[in-house]
Amino acid sequence: MESLWHYQFRIIMLGDSTVGKSSLLKRYTEDVFISFINQTVGVDFYVQFFEVEPGVKVKLQFWDTAGQERFRSVTRSYYRNSAGGLIVFDISNRSSFESVREWHKEVSAHVQPHKVILMLVGHKSDLEEERTVTREEGEKLAASLGLPYIETSAKTNSNVVEAFQQLSSAIYQALQSGELHLRKDWDGVKCGAARAQELNDTQPVPVEEPTKSCAC
Ligand code: GDP
Ligand code: MG
Repeated sequence: MESLWHYQFRIIMLGDSTVGKSSLLKRYTEDVFISFINQTVGVDFYVQFFEVEPGVKVKLQFWDTAGQERFRSVTRSYYRNSAGGLIVFDISNRSSFESVREWHKEVSAHVQPHKVILMLVGHKSDLEEERTVTREEGEKLAASLGLPYIETSAKTNSNVVEAFQQLSSAIYQALQSGELHLRKDWDGVKCGAARAQELNDTQPVPVEEPTKSCAC
């Protein structure tokens, strides 16, 4: 299974504590929702596979932060080795919305000289009654940052798959257009074919050749 992907994209989750980052990942990768989810401790990894176009399989590797959200500062390498990220706020928590610009500033400053493909997510869309940020405000902020906007709910499973697939497709398009480059010293995007070759060099494991080779 491991050798069957063509690309690996590393994706980070950004946004204040309790906005629902871990819940979004749990819903997308395991299709579950837990009301009393444990606070993330250390860094949690989640994996999901996605066929970004027929014959091109991508391994999405998600990094989930460990409560450093409080300080709105995560380690530099966390940002630098990412191909994409979701900036998440909670539509029922105005202050998480007000933090979005800071998160964007933070990631933009740390990611240099690489680029990271971002998307803004207004989460907990099931809490319509408690909404304190309108959809229009979310859309306006996203537009001002040059990002797409989507509203999701891990609880009702609304738009969760769509958000991750839209982000993954945007990363893939950025790779195709040359906006993102594969580099040996960068872990944001990895090439599956190269990995298969490495395995072949060290041990005689049967590896299935990708149907479509990637540019590395
Ligand atoms: P994180 O700190 O950003 O990782 O947030 P968590 O995923 O730990 O979620 C914080 C709280 O919000 C938990 O009690 C979740 O059950 C709740 N939560 C997460 N997603 C949703 C959602 O879509 N709707 C509702 N109503 N609650 C959610
Ligand atoms: Mg968490």
